[in-house]
Amino acid sequence: MTKRVYLFGDGKAEGSARDRNLLGGKGANLAEMCNLGLPVPPGLTITTDTCNAYYEAGRQFPEGLRDEVSAALSKVGEMAGRQFGDAEHPLLLSVRSGARASMPGMMDTVLNLGLNDETVRAMARESGDEGFAYDSYRRFIQMYANVVMGADHEAFEEILEDEKARLGHELDTDVSAEEWQTIIARYKQMIEEELGTPFPQDPHEQLWGAIGAVFSSWMNARAITYRQLHDVPASWGTAVNVQAMVFGNFGNTSATGVAFTRNPSTGENRLYGEFLINAQGEDVVAGIRTPQSLTEAGRIESGSDKPSLEKSMPEAFAEFVEITKRLENHYRDMQDLEFTIERGKLWMLQTRNGKRTARAALKIAVEMADAGLISPQEAVGRIEPGSLDQLLHPTIDPKAERNIIGSGLPASPGAATGEIVFTSEDAVEASRTGRKVILVRVETSPEDIHGMHAAEGILTIRGGMTSHAAVVARGMGTPCVSGAGGLRIDSRRKRLLTLAGELGEGDTITLDGSSGQVLKGSVAMLQPELSGDFGRIMEWADAARQMKVRTNAETPADARAARSFGAEGIGLCRTEHMFFEEDRIISMREMILADNEDGRRAALAKLLPMQRSDFTELFEIMNGLPVTIRLLDPPLHEFLPKSPEEIAEVAGLLGVDPDLLASRVEELHEFNPMLGHRGCRLAISYPEIAEMQTRAIFEAAVEAAKSTGAPVEPEIMVPLVSLREELDYVKARIDAVARQVIEESGQSITYLVGTMIELPRAAIRAARIAEAAEFFSFGTNDLTQTTFGISRDDAASFLQTYRQKGIIDHDPFVSIDVEGVGELVRMATEKGRQTRPDIKLGICGEHGGDPASIRFCQQVGLDYVSCSPFRVPIARLAAAQAAISATES
Ligand code: ADP
Ligand code: MG
Ligand code: MG
Repeated sequence: MTKRVYLFGDGKAEGSARDRNLLGGKGANLAEMCNLGLPVPPGLTITTDTCNAYYEAGRQFPEGLRDEVSAALSKVGEMAGRQFGDAEHPLLLSVRSGARASMPGMMDTVLNLGLNDETVRAMARESGDEGFAYDSYRRFIQMYANVVMGADHEAFEEILEDEKARLGHELDTDVSAEEWQTIIARYKQMIEEELGTPFPQDPHEQLWGAIGAVFSSWMNARAITYRQLHDVPASWGTAVNVQAMVFGNFGNTSATGVAFTRNPSTGENRLYGEFLINAQGEDVVAGIRTPQSLTEAGRIESGSDKPSLEKSMPEAFAEFVEITKRLENHYRDMQDLEFTIERGKLWMLQTRNGKRTARAALKIAVEMADAGLISPQEAVGRIEPGSLDQLLHPTIDPKAERNIIGSGLPASPGAATGEIVFTSEDAVEASRTGRKVILVRVETSPEDIHGMHAAEGILTIRGGMTSHAAVVARGMGTPCVSGAGGLRIDSRRKRLLTLAGELGEGDTITLDGSSGQVLKGSVAMLQPELSGDFGRIMEWADAARQMKVRTNAETPADARAARSFGAEGIGLCRTEHMFFEEDRIISMREMILADNEDGRRAALAKLLPMQRSDFTELFEIMNGLPVTIRLLDPPLHEFLPKSPEEIAEVAGLLGVDPDLLASRVEELHEFNPMLGHRGCRLAISYPEIAEMQTRAIFEAAVEAAKSTGAPVEPEIMVPLVSLREELDYVKARIDAVARQVIEESGQSITYLVGTMIELPRAAIRAARIAEAAEFFSFGTNDLTQTTFGISRDDAASFLQTYRQKGIIDHDPFVSIDVEGVGELVRMATEKGRQTRPDIKLGICGEHGGDPASIRFCQQVGLDYVSCSPFRVPIARLAAAQAAISATES
């Protein structure tokens, strides 16, 4: 029979960190800490497989599970010196969920389980502290009724606030044992009235209720949303950890806290954390009382007058510091820890690799590599490529004037400007219409994930550096200011009350997530610094990677930005973008409206010098690096006016009859432009367009070579080819013009002519197309559209539904569909190489900047990927990781 329950405690455990899939992250690390001999309260972990079995059986506990848990629990009791359900020496438990990946959508932990009207008296007797016992009991009732029975959390808060007000108490810690008993009686009565069932007194009923609630929470809406956003498969299931309680709320020699072995915001190598005296569980992160700093240094920095743990409990602190060092060296990564001190004795409750900002990730990886704890290749593997995005974000120009209207904690770095919204729904709605918003909340909860994703920045009134908003925002790379206590939200009137008066929905503010400031209006921003740790990691990445990284760029600004981000050439220059500018579109329209070749050539002659100077500038910026230029691709009607007013205006400008223009617009109208008269089809109908572009390219190459001294090897790319004959026809024109320019200039120019592979037929016939094509560039946007037979512009609505219904697990326009589109790429690669072993192969679709797709490109063996400028560093890193994992496997 498979083992479903794993014990840990007393310096040993049945599992270890290797059993993460089975025990979940929390369970596996609790086991590992036990094996390391660290002080961990004993307990047991019910496996993730059991969760799956629970669902297979229609939400029933599998047979025999109760006996296994009972047996394990009595061993936990032996280790703890007290037994569960015992009336004299009751063992109290925490019930904690724990999936393979840390999941904020899951059930909240239930603490103090096993308390009832009888055991609470035993607890009072044993501890000699009645207040403590009844405080624990009321906490348990509150948590259990909320988390397991579904009672409203607010209702308890109301009763508590009401009683405290009546008694004239400020703090929870002022409430006496008798007063807690009154509150407990009111709690129980409220539960019975609201839920129609009494609060369960039987500890075993309590336990199984909690275990069932953990399993059930795997399928709650919050968890499902979280899994969707983070690509976590439902089949993983969650484990349940049942653990002996230790008490941080046992008077003033007790405490509970959280810590990071290094600063998760900056990466600074210094213990960082917060704690509360005489507190339990989530008190630290819930923002009820302001937490104290663990270290003296931290206390001084935050300007707090409340003592640090270092000062107030030096022995426990020293032991804790020792443990944090051991754990960091053991896991060879920055750790995120939870601990409790019960009457001076330290207990470890959790450790895991800590979430961190991209900046911190870089610093930590570089420092750990420099210290020899990890290799440079491992350091490269430690950075999530997508997270580099955060560093490429602008920060506020230090010289800019700051109109500060509030401040809070610098919870997630970077600066963001946007309009105020007060709800996640509004944030999602606004971002749909392309507006940039700042989500302003009292505090966030897992239900806000959607809104947090949609927002440019997040501002909360309550909560510390480890609050939900702070942790989630850092993970998403979204700037966040948390705990801006000086601000108030009037949610009924949808107003934000600030130092400088009221602001409403739609008013613009700027957040500085690096300083915690909230500023009115928008503020000048600075572009990011790409040296230092970033530069070191990139150097290591470049040494490890095999594929080249180019950029998609047609403007000088983009090309320059891409070069500064390390692009090694241009993989796609979309020439049509050069025709939309004011003075050019006129000549373009003239060309389109001309009714014979001569007329077209006359208009094209005007475009030639402009196109040539564009290319010259790009070639100069690229300074000898390869540049792939795609011939005109979109259907011609895209360049024509649409509305009658526009038509009249353009007709006036061109001096043509508006009716004639209108009828030409009508003529060019297509039912399906995406599948219409575009790509090489245009070059075949109007070869003079391709000829003009070719001439511009070669003349520019001659000029740029002269000015930079670096020879240019243009790569001319013919779009939308499906037949070799199409390519032959266009290539013959290109070659002819090339010969002419070479002759005229007396310069020899080496160049390549190749094609996009963006139609299934081209992939299928790649062997034959490669006879003419010297390179392939996979245009995976169109290839995805034509392989699936869906248009990207129309797909958003139903692809979303597909994802929700589990038909697809990711958007194929974001991450390449490896099985379908990828198969075509693979096939074309093989066939292309059969015909022409040295054929150059690259990708220029949006996928060229997507880490998962880049991994696929490495597997297929492409020579380069090409992506938008801001994704170049991401692609460099992703390509390095792909190469490293290819050599490892
Ligand atoms: P999360 O996954 O939300 O971090 P945890 O299971 O770690 O949930 O529990 C949250 C908090 O509850 C812990 O940080 C700790 O303070 C408290 N807690 C959990 N188990 C115990 C225990 N055995 N004794 C005392 N406190 C506990
Ligand atoms: Mg929690
Ligand atoms: Mg925890």
